[in-house]
Amino acid sequence: MESRIESRIEPAPRADDRDEASRLDRRVASDCRLLAIAIEQSPVATAITDAEGRFEFVNRRFIEVTGYGRDELLGQTPALIKSGHTPPAVYQSLWRTLAAGEVWRGELLNRKKSGELYWEAEIITPVRDGQSGMVRYVVVKEDITQRKRHESELRLLATAFETGQATLITDAEMRIERVNAAFSAITGYRAEEVIGETPRLFKSGRHDEAFYAALWEAVLTTGHWQGEIWNRNKAGEVYPLWQSITAVADEAGEIRNFVAVFHNISERKRMERELARQATRDHLTGALNRRGFDEALAGALVEAECQARPMSLLLFDIDHFKAVNDRHGHDRGDAILRALARRVQACLRSSDLLARWGGEEFTLLLPGTDPSGARTIAERLRQAVAAAPFAGLSVTISLGVASHRPGESAQALLQRADAALYQAKGQGRNRVMVDGQDRHISVEF
Ligand code: GH3
Ligand code: MG
Ligand code: MG
Repeated sequence: MESRIESRIEPAPRADDRDEASRLDRRVASDCRLLAIAIEQSPVATAITDAEGRFEFVNRRFIEVTGYGRDELLGQTPALIKSGHTPPAVYQSLWRTLAAGEVWRGELLNRKKSGELYWEAEIITPVRDGQSGMVRYVVVKEDITQRKRHESELRLLATAFETGQATLITDAEMRIERVNAAFSAITGYRAEEVIGETPRLFKSGRHDEAFYAALWEAVLTTGHWQGEIWNRNKAGEVYPLWQSITAVADEAGEIRNFVAVFHNISERKRMERELARQATRDHLTGALNRRGFDEALAGALVEAECQARPMSLLLFDIDHFKAVNDRHGHDRGDAILRALARRVQACLRSSDLLARWGGEEFTLLLPGTDPSGARTIAERLRQAVAAAPFAGLSVTISLGVASHRPGESAQALLQRADAALYQAKGQGRNRVMVDGQDRHISVEF
């Protein structure tokens, strides 16, 4: 009866319709099998969960990535692989999106069975089952730990590039591709002003072609050059740099880039000059020290020999200075030494070199000065010292003068000046003795 009614409403399928339906069923079944095989073998980790998020299906890749067995996963929720390190806001957005029936895409930091943390990019798609009407979730994920690591390395390198020494990167044709903030700080050029230009823009004109040729020869043969180079900044100032240039080749050995790293060494050079100056200066009086004087004397001797020019040397010593110290103290003695050096210096030409030989004894190098000129200067100094007190105390000096003889050593010259000074002391002090004449001439005051 019922079947008759049914057959009235819905006519029983004809034989060829039944064939068609079973063919369709077979095709669906075959498609399903194929899809299952495809998903199972897919390199993308895939899972399907029920409405409560319990795994109903996981593919081989999912098992590989998580390290859990299929049995350990099925029936569990993704809480199993939660690391606890993904920010809560990510999960809030996930559930909000899925509740609205939309696809969620995001990145989660999960934990493998081994305890190892790994990053995943996930796509979770809510799917309504056509038969049961139940919602399932299809989870497709990719392990992006490596990519994340590269990204963080790149971020690190970019930070190092921006915060490090001034750096300039060119292509193989020497066109500038990248510069950093330190580059701009030193050169005055902003990145957009130099990109596409070549480093010729910075040439100072202080180096000849041979210098650059040797530099590039080293870079191209050894892959590296470093050294001092003078460049011109945007304001037109020429300044010294310590620069290192490296050629960067690809796997085939072809040069792709040149990387130049440099820093400004103006300040270092200034300090080096200052240190060198200090190393040759006497701290108390600012006159040359013995080392500075030795160097100057050696140079002056060579010049005197080569150019057959006269040159004289003067040695002087404060008279009875021990008594001054004993009576008025060492500090007062120092003040006298400073003031005396200043006064003597004021009497000299720029080519004359005053040095503190030691204690209260000074030397004076007089290039281009013959014996009579030297005696005049010595006498002028003697008078200038005796003329007025220093630090409230009057002192006098005794002076010995010697003029250079062709072929004579510095030591021999100094000895003669010293002998003349000794004579001046012996003859009563506050006087000039000139060596090298028939007899020592004592200039009385
Ligand atoms: P003369 O006339 O024979 O040169 O007598 P003098 O006392 O000056 O001779 P001497 O060379 O024997 O003594 C040098 C003295 O100079 C010893 C020391 O008291 C003093 N003197 C040496 N160097 C310094 C110094 O740097 N500062 C001070 N305040 N005194 C010094
Ligand atoms: Mg003395
Ligand atoms: Mg002395």
